[in-house]
Parts: sequence; C-alpha cells; structure tokens
Amino acid sequence: MFVCPHCQARYGTEEPIWRCTCGSYLNPDFDLPFEPKRIAKDNYSLWRYSHALPLAPGASIVTLGEGFTPLLPLSWRGKEILFKLDYLCPSGSFKDRGTTLLVSQLETWGIKEVVEDSSGNAGASLATYAARAGINCTIYVPAKASRGKRVQIALSGAHLVAVPGSREDTTRAVLTAAENTFYASHNLSPLFTEGVKTLAFELAEQLDWSLPDSIIVPAGNGSLVLGLAAGMQQLWKAGVISTRPRLIAVQTSACAPLATAFAAGQTEPALISKGETLAEGIASSTPPRGHEVLAAVRESGGTFVTVSEEEIISALLELARCGIYVEPTSATVGAALNQCLETGTISRTERVVVVLTGSGLKATDKLLEVYGRRLDL
Ligand SMILES: *Cc1c(COP(=O)(O)O)cnc(C)c1O
Ligand SMILES: [Zn+2]
Repeated sequence: MFVCPHCQARYGTEEPIWRCTCGSYLNPDFDLPFEPKRIAKDNYSLWRYSHALPLAPGASIVTLGEGFTPLLPLSWRGKEILFKLDYLCPSGSFKDRGTTLLVSQLETWGIKEVVEDSSGNAGASLATYAARAGINCTIYVPAKASRGKRVQIALSGAHLVAVPGSREDTTRAVLTAAENTFYASHNLSPLFTEGVKTLAFELAEQLDWSLPDSIIVPAGNGSLVLGLAAGMQQLWKAGVISTRPRLIAVQTSACAPLATAFAAGQTEPALISKGETLAEGIASSTPPRGHEVLAAVRESGGTFVTVSEEEIISALLELARCGIYVEPTSATVGAALNQCLETGTISRTERVVVVLTGSGLKATDKLLEVYGRRLDL
C-alpha cells in the first residue's frame, strides 16, 4: 500500500498514482520480512534482494545491473574507513537504486510518458532507465545544471527543458507540465526510497551482518538518510542485525535547511536563503520529506554536519589522490569525515562507512572551472 502522511488516505499499488488527492507525497507501507536465505545469490545487482522489495509478483523489472557496488577499505589520515562506491552505478550516481524501482513500477503500470525535474543526476538516471524501458520522458533541469549531466540526459533520448532561475523554479515548471502527464518525481515517489534501502541490505551483507558504528551520507532531499533508516529498520525487525549505526548527514553551509533545524532542535526544515554551492546535488532549500529526515537522523543517534566550499574543494582533491574520483556533491562526505575526525564526533576506534554517491566524470566542466588553473589545464 501507499499511505499519505498528511491525511492518512491509503492507496493500492494497482493504479498509477504519484501523489495523494490532498496534494501530499505518499509513503510506502509494506510489511516485507528480510530473509538472508532468500537472497538471490546468483544476481549481482540490488535485485538479489527482490524478496524484500515492494513490487507485485510478475512485475516488469527494468534493470541495468545497478547496485552491489564495492565496499572498499582505505587508510584515511591513519584510520581505516570503508568507502561504499555507489558512484559506480550505471548512470554514475546512487540514484539508479531508486530509479530501477520507480521505472519498473511505471513499466508495470503501462505508463508511456513521464515528466521529471532534477538538478542533474536524478534526471540523468530517469532518462537512462526510461531509455531502457522505451518510455518517453521530459526532464526539466535548472539552466545552470552541469553540462555533463545535460548531455547525458539528451543522449539518452529524453527531451530536455532548461529552466532559468532556481531549482525551485524548475519544480514549479514541471508541476504545470504534470497536470497533463505522469510526474515521475524521485522526491515524491513512495518507491524511490524503497530502492535506496538496498544500500543498507548490501552494507549488512558485505559486512557479514554487522553494520558499522556510523554511516556518513550527503543529504539534500534525504533519500539516502530515509532509505538507509528504512533498510536498517527492516533488517532489525527481521533480527538480522543487532546494532544500528548512527547516520551522519552532510549539508553545505550555502544550503543547510536540515542541519540548521537539527542544531536548533526543530522538527521541520529551517527557512533559509540559499547561496551558491558546488554541491548542486544537495542544494535543496525545501526538502518535502524534511521532517522525516530530521526524525530519522535523531532516532539513529546521529547528527548533521555542514561543510564549506573550501572544505569540499580540498576533500575532492584528497579523495581523488586516493583513487576515488567523485563529483563535488559526493566529496562533501570526505569533508564531513575530516571534520568529524578533528572534532572527535567520530572516534579513532569506531567503524565508519562513507557513502560516495556521484561520479567525477559527471562534473568535468565544474571540475575544470575549480581546478583547471591550479593544475595548469
Ligand atoms: C541526489 C544526490 C544526493 C542527495 O540525495 P538526496 O536524496 O537529495 O538527499 C547526493 N549525492 C549525489 C551525487 C546526488 O545526485
Ligand atoms: Zn493525503
């Protein structure tokens, strides 16, 4: 079932729907026991966990082999850190975890045409999977989104609409288009975070059912936080894990509605005026599920960390020099890791997983702007 957190209306999954009649987003409500014995060991994608994922039996699965990404131990400032290389997903970002579920559901519903808005990666991911499924898609992006992401969307055959102004202007434009077609919004979809849950399943399986003490993730709209929290809840309920990690969520000083609210002990995202940031993938000033994200981080015993542009720039370089080539949005977790080690938020002895969400290959134009002169390129 899909359930509305606002008016509690419930919907079956047989009919296409992207939001409640009251206007709210919908949440998933499925009771799917996780059973290690039922993992499809011969499937090296996140669909090895299909028994614990909510799609009707006989659903069409639209997959490009996403998930089951490496968990790489590296020595970082003298401490072993586990890096989850989710930027190795097919479209170059972790968004493919949610998109494979979302598009499989669209295909099962027989939807032929969708619209979506995105700062880049969600749009690129949806365009990629829509191409795989033969679904027509139109992606609205802010006119200043990375050229690398725009060309990726256009090459996949999607119709690209560049909207001048802010990320929020892009959402307003897509909502108008959504009056006549299906809005495949990754932020509103009740299935997107269901796909991101597999990140928790994989970490648990890769660590022999013993999760780390802390997991560091970037947070814009918060699908990583919510997906990990939901996945860990499912593992916990099944008795598969006995401890739950703290979630350390990262925002930038330029756009920190959640971190600001968290620090002030508030339960709703703070009203902020957004500054410029290299981390375009987490520059969401009004995250629709913000209060859920705040609650999930609190319940995990974790915290929010904000990082500056300077910290992102040096962390990206530090990661690249370890062989990890990520885009600025993803490098924020390196900056947060350094802060946490310096402040003692993360101790020398605890086990830490850092989730790397987006490939550096997506941001060549931005990287050249920032590092070109310094590296004599
Ligand atoms: C979308 C995105 C994020 C943030 O995901 P949210 O669900 O908005 O919190 C982080 N990193 C990258 C590379 C992204 O594309
Ligand atoms: Zn409702």
